[in-house]
Amino acid sequence: MSESLTTEQLKEIAGTFGTPVYVYHAEHINGQYKKLTAAFARTDTRFFYACKALTNINVLRHIKSIGCQVDCSSVNEVKLALLAGFEPEHVLYTSNGIHFSEIEEAIGLGVNINIDSLSNLQKFGARFGHSYPVGVRLRPGIMAGGNLKISTGHDKSKFGIPIDQLDKILTLVNEYDLLVRTLHIHTGSDIQDLDIFVKGIEVLFDIIPKFRDLSSIDLGGGFKVSYKEGDVETDIGLLAKKVREAFSDHPNPNGKPLQVWFEPGKFLLSAAGYLVSEVNVLKETNTTTFAGLNTGFNHLLRPMFYDAYHRIENISNPFGPVKPYTITGNICETDTFAWDRMVNEIREGDLLVFYNAGAYGFEMSSNFNSRVKPAEVLVKDGKAQLIRKREEFEDLLRNQIL
Ligand SMILES: *Cc1c(COP(=O)(O)O)cnc(C)c1O
Repeated sequence: MSESLTTEQLKEIAGTFGTPVYVYHAEHINGQYKKLTAAFARTDTRFFYACKALTNINVLRHIKSIGCQVDCSSVNEVKLALLAGFEPEHVLYTSNGIHFSEIEEAIGLGVNINIDSLSNLQKFGARFGHSYPVGVRLRPGIMAGGNLKISTGHDKSKFGIPIDQLDKILTLVNEYDLLVRTLHIHTGSDIQDLDIFVKGIEVLFDIIPKFRDLSSIDLGGGFKVSYKEGDVETDIGLLAKKVREAFSDHPNPNGKPLQVWFEPGKFLLSAAGYLVSEVNVLKETNTTTFAGLNTGFNHLLRPMFYDAYHRIENISNPFGPVKPYTITGNICETDTFAWDRMVNEIREGDLLVFYNAGAYGFEMSSNFNSRVKPAEVLVKDGKAQLIRKREEFEDLLRNQIL
């Protein structure tokens, strides 16, 4: 069990920094990372934190300090990672749908790249040939993950080069003498069924012999975390065992040992984060009691975008009688966090905490309704440090021509 913050700590932080506020717990991240490294201690494995989950530079620095590497989804994330102090060889850029100039820029910065279209692979070949190593992102045709929005490996997904176009990939590899070092698949998020990873490996083993310069296979991210009681996290120990077994069944035909890469985002950050908000108004109707918060889908979009469940607790009245509340935001749009959720009696001014808010929380926030983005706080060694100021009215005008 990884560490968590106490409600007393969260209340104190809300008092010091105001609400709504995102709070991240460094030691929880350490615990999650340790689970990964301990389980895979007997396999040559590298972990790249998928930083689109949360890119605050202080979090990136912390991730670096524990020895984890970083996976980026845009060249700006690459620049943030380098600014945070990562060595270029510890940075991976897994692109999709991007203009070739972004790949050129990333190569200029010296980082690892995974390319996910034949078009960009061709442009890469014509421009760089054998002179720069490259990874190829494949679409394995596997359905995985919580729902269609977060599944990326199925055969209607835009991600990766469909595996039935392998011939075309190989033609490019031959034509430009490409130095393909990595084969990548990322099948989705919230994956509970470990056999999905094994299936992915099986798919890769069939084609590994065709890439003689290969040094790693990248199985992406998507480990599941627990959102509510009874939920189970991906069993990392069992995954490590299955990966080891799959490898021992398939000696690498190229002779070289293959590294296994993973790109966990949610697994490292989700439960490390909390969103603390305050109750603005209570509204009783014939059927429902609404609790309206001083936040909304402008700050935490996952419940509305993915139908994600977030545990919500009233930390101001933890022993109050439990009643059903429909918990909503303050945005002029239907921004319901939870329908008829049982919560300890809510009063105006109470503090409500959203759990599992570390990954894809702040990072997906917006200025909708001209509301400002919340502050972010990192707790490390028991000390709470502001790592992003709450936005102010002036920030809304920053790029407008007045
Ligand atoms: C989003 C993403 C990840 C991380 O997914 P999680 O569900 O957060 O673990 C890893 N790799 C790639 C390529 C991604 O796009």
